[in-house]
Amino acid sequence: MHSHNPSLKPKLEFKKVVLAGNPNVGKSLIFNRLSGLYAEVSNFPGTTVSIISAWYKNYNVFDTPGIYGVSSFNDEERVAKEIILQGDIILSIVNALNLERDLFLTLQLIEMGKKVSVILNMMDEVKKHNLIIDSKKLSDLLGVPVFEVSALKGEGLDKIDEAIQKARIGNQDKLVNEKLKLVKEFIPDQAEALLFLEGDREIIKKYPQVNLPIEDIREEIYIHRRNRVKEIVDQVESKDTLSGLFFSKLGRLALNPLTGIPILLLILTLVYFFVGDLVAQRFVDFSENTIGKGLIEYNVKKLVAKFTSTDIEVKIFDDVDKLNEVRLYSFPNGIDNDPERFKEFEEVVSNNDVEFNFIFNNIIAQFFFGEFGVITMTATYLFFLLLPLVTSFYLTLAFLEDSGYLPRLAAMADRLFTRVGLNGKAIIPIILGFGCVTMATITTRMLGTEREKTIATAILQFVIPCSAQLAVITILLSAAGPKAIFLYVVIILIVLLLTSTVLDKVVPGQSSPLILDLPLMSLPDPKNILRKTYYRTLGFMKEATPLFFLGTAIIGLLQITGVINLWINFLEPLTTKWLQLPKESAMAFIMGMVRRDFGAAGLFHMNLNVYQTVVALVTITLFVPCIASFLVMIKERGLKQGLIIWLGTWFFAFTIGGIVSQILM
Ligand code: GDP
Repeated sequence: MHSHNPSLKPKLEFKKVVLAGNPNVGKSLIFNRLSGLYAEVSNFPGTTVSIISAWYKNYNVFDTPGIYGVSSFNDEERVAKEIILQGDIILSIVNALNLERDLFLTLQLIEMGKKVSVILNMMDEVKKHNLIIDSKKLSDLLGVPVFEVSALKGEGLDKIDEAIQKARIGNQDKLVNEKLKLVKEFIPDQAEALLFLEGDREIIKKYPQVNLPIEDIREEIYIHRRNRVKEIVDQVESKDTLSGLFFSKLGRLALNPLTGIPILLLILTLVYFFVGDLVAQRFVDFSENTIGKGLIEYNVKKLVAKFTSTDIEVKIFDDVDKLNEVRLYSFPNGIDNDPERFKEFEEVVSNNDVEFNFIFNNIIAQFFFGEFGVITMTATYLFFLLLPLVTSFYLTLAFLEDSGYLPRLAAMADRLFTRVGLNGKAIIPIILGFGCVTMATITTRMLGTEREKTIATAILQFVIPCSAQLAVITILLSAAGPKAIFLYVVIILIVLLLTSTVLDKVVPGQSSPLILDLPLMSLPDPKNILRKTYYRTLGFMKEATPLFFLGTAIIGLLQITGVINLWINFLEPLTTKWLQLPKESAMAFIMGMVRRDFGAAGLFHMNLNVYQTVVALVTITLFVPCIASFLVMIKERGLKQGLIIWLGTWFFAFTIGGIVSQILM
């Protein structure tokens, strides 16, 4: 074939050696070193692209235009492709500083079934940058010899001879092989067959009888090849410092499921101690209760109570946390008119285990400053609970991201997640969900397709308990004993699997494949981490604040108008008969809409038995998430979808809770 092309006509016994590589990898320099001055320049027929060839020992050596892959979108690529197709031996020239980009072409050449040797150029630069490239390992992974060279310094060029002689057909990729089988019958030449599958127009024209969904196949092959490049680079490249070596080893281990899962568990434990224990419990307990409620909210309420008729309800608990007594302190003319009585109240509070509640008889005061006061509750919640929590979560996220761990986790999680119609990146919002479902719902933006966003949002809203809720759940479960813990975890896991599978089946659309860079793992730059954390936290607070105010306003209105009580009455038969829980639990569920932990916390003083605890906690976990995350969901997913998911959680929580209850009790 192509005998019409005089410049490429083989001189019988002379083998054709082709130098192929990306632009600026040092091809010309190497070619000139090989050819000396006796290069022949000719024009490739029908183009202005010149072909340079020369005689080197017994070989006819060709230089080619720089390309990123073998294809035929422009003249230069077409020329390079023609020369490569006809070459006997390909020297794949690679810039060692740019393996991530360059090895794509190398892999393609190997998959074409060509005899290949890799010339790893720019080794002088590699040394300067303190990089280590394991060329032996690279050679093992590719299945072709690799030669380290510095064309600029003339180092290693004496090995070119050996490179030509030892060039061989490399390791063939399984997926590509499978695809090649599709066309083997019609296209005997492997190189042409591969280019056909990759949608090369000229080759397709040559074999019009083969009809295949080329677009999809090309996409699949490209993504697969890119991922292979990443895996290879990850294994052969490292930094020449102690920490560099440590991290590159860690990076490799994190990617392999066998070692990666223990590493993940270790990291999650550390994250739990930092975010879940130190921040979400210890710090938030201080900031929310002591500063937010104890100091600020209390003083604001006291101030309001000076000017308006106020009742203070005090619930006193005994040593075993049982409700002992409820007292009502009434100040029809404000607390300043009855300082004695207020003093008495303050004494009771400081000497007993109590919960107390300011009830303002003026509707407006109640709306803004009362139990669900739009101002008091939202401010405490936003700044003393959510802010520290979200900051610590974003801090952890930035650390994991910049260290290079997160992309590896995503790559590893990908297999698991693809089964439920998500790509591996979905692990990030889902992990964030254990901090705050609202924040996580905002983060679903990073997912590739609408379908993935919908599925991830629904999983978050259905099954993932946020940290506030998790804290209360943990306490209640540990009090109820190991049987309860076991039942709860098993039930929630089953539900998680079920929901994800069902969502995968019913949500229309396509999921995107995971494409991500795997950077070297390293110790992250603190400045960068702080900057990221700052901007993300700020962004979250800016978006969430108005929605939180709106949410509390809605709940406040429902309360003032009495709609909440109607609702509680409506739920009561459901909770007592179907879930077999005490009737006060209806109140707990409704409180869960305000804030998820209110719901669970409402169960504290209810004296539930083990099974009732499991039923109540399962229901509350699956139950509608807080009003803020509901509003964020509507903002992100639209009113229709948001409402469907929200109503779904009602239906779902009570159905599953009821089934569990009927089975257990
Ligand atoms: P081509 O586009 O692949 O033909 O690449 P060239 O041969 O034109 O080289 C591109 C640039 O890389 C030139 O500035 C070369 O001097 C430089 N270069 C090539 N090989 C090396 C090398 O081994 N070390 C260093 N430091 N620079 C190199």
